[in-house]
Amino acid sequence: MTEAPKRFPLTLSSVVDSKSKSSGQRANRVVATPQTATRNAAYDSAKSSLSPKPSFGLSSVKPPVFSPPGTPVRQSNAVPTTNLSNQQQTGERSASLVSEGVRKAMVARIAKQGVSDVSVLAAMAAVPRHMFMEPGLASQAYIDASLPIGHHQTISQPYIVARMIEVMRDNQHGGVLNRVLEIGTGCGYQAAVLSLVAKEVYSIERIKPLHELARSNLRPLRVANIRLHYGDGMLGLPQVAPFDGIILAAAGLEVPQALLDQMAIGGRLVAPVGSRHQVLQLIQRISKFDWTSTTLEDCHFVPLRAGIA
Ligand code: SAH
Repeated sequence: MTEAPKRFPLTLSSVVDSKSKSSGQRANRVVATPQTATRNAAYDSAKSSLSPKPSFGLSSVKPPVFSPPGTPVRQSNAVPTTNLSNQQQTGERSASLVSEGVRKAMVARIAKQGVSDVSVLAAMAAVPRHMFMEPGLASQAYIDASLPIGHHQTISQPYIVARMIEVMRDNQHGGVLNRVLEIGTGCGYQAAVLSLVAKEVYSIERIKPLHELARSNLRPLRVANIRLHYGDGMLGLPQVAPFDGIILAAAGLEVPQALLDQMAIGGRLVAPVGSRHQVLQLIQRISKFDWTSTTLEDCHFVPLRAGIA
């Protein structure tokens, strides 16, 4: 309760909690390879593609900016292209154009499925989902499906990521979210999307190698407002609560009481609930002692598990 929240924006090295920093573990994907350069180029393109011109008929989509509300836009994450041959540069440019194009198509599909919050659609258009996948699966990054990320876990389906964030944002403050919590970081994709619609994002993962994977996936994106924690998300983060929004990326039979207690009054929690048959539930905290629950739609998530692994 006494630990003061860190100031935002945070430096990149502070994206992980101190416990994991001292572990000295390094994920194997931080090694610079031509692939890394291609990925960086794609991300640069994602940032520079944040053009104000309307796309896929969403005329009111705000130009997406890969920076949290209220913080200055970081200018340069440029790949040192001077060291690359012309052929490499051309290859990277076309790779990034391809990923930009398929990402726009993905967002158009999500909009067609009913997600209408332009800030959410813009955030989905800005985050390079392929950078969160194993290279072997990157070509499938923009299909509307959950895909394996190892350890029997999955990166969530793009539609459901967008839908959950849209529901969380539909609050009494016009979508303003100061502090949000995600349970189940996985590869870090949803945390990256959240970082564009909330001022501070906290995300907890119970599987250590996935926590490390998210850390290495997020590093090249230079996201300043995400804090990753390794631990049991069912306990939440009482030291930083209350949260304006909480999203669970794994399904339990019920929403843990600790998470309900850590919601701000007026806060919204979105969670898959159930085992074989799961539904998306919205829980709103309306007073110190009162919560309401609304069932939204069927969904399918990996199970929420207690403890750490
Ligand atoms: N947010 C991810 C989805 C990851 S899948 C995305 O962007 O696609 C759900 C994740 O929840 C898994 O990595 C799983 O390990 C994690 N998880 C399950 N129970 C948990 C718990 N009690 N605390 C923290 N993470 C949990």
